[in-house]
Amino acid sequence: MAGKIVINKELCKGCALCIGACPQKLIVIAEEINSKGYHPAEFVDSKGACTGCTLCASMCPEVAIEVFRADKT
Ligand code: SF4
Ligand code: SF4
Repeated sequence: MAGKIVINKELCKGCALCIGACPQKLIVIAEEINSKGYHPAEFVDSKGACTGCTLCASMCPEVAIEVFRADKT
């Protein structure tokens, strides 16, 4: 099962809750800042390790994370 997430950088406030939530450790805080002055979370998954578990998205108080999952049916 493979997944991926898309983080809306403008909604993100850089609280890092998603970073602690990800069992695969696929989210980091970006060096760039968004238009509100926050360092947003960034998805880094060079090995395709995201399972699409949605833990990150369910943790996000800003609802800034969208999860896409390719289930094999
Ligand atoms: S969906 Fe799961 S594995 Fe993928 S980034 Fe979010 S917490 Fe990590
Ligand atoms: S939990 Fe949401 S607001 Fe907090 S850093 Fe992650 S994406 Fe940004």
